[in-house]
Amino acid sequence: MDSIQEIELQDCPLCGGAGSLEEEGGWCVYVQCYDCGCHTAALSYNTPEERLEMARRTAQTWNLGKVIYPGPGD
Ligand SMILES: [Zn+2]
Repeated sequence: MDSIQEIELQDCPLCGGAGSLEEEGGWCVYVQCYDCGCHTAALSYNTPEERLEMARRTAQTWNLGKVIYPGPGD
């Protein structure tokens, strides 16, 4: 069981869809909505401890509604 997947995420602040905690390239984490495509800023990490910390931080950003919307057609 991966502990970062247990972090609680609220629904998408823009469309109410389900948020998903994503990892990219094994060095950064962010939360993305698959319904409207908005996402939080990606946070990079270097260690397993930092990975958990950054996952918590990006989830908190998501839960506060601070997301980036790429716009229609992207
Ligand atoms: Zn959305």
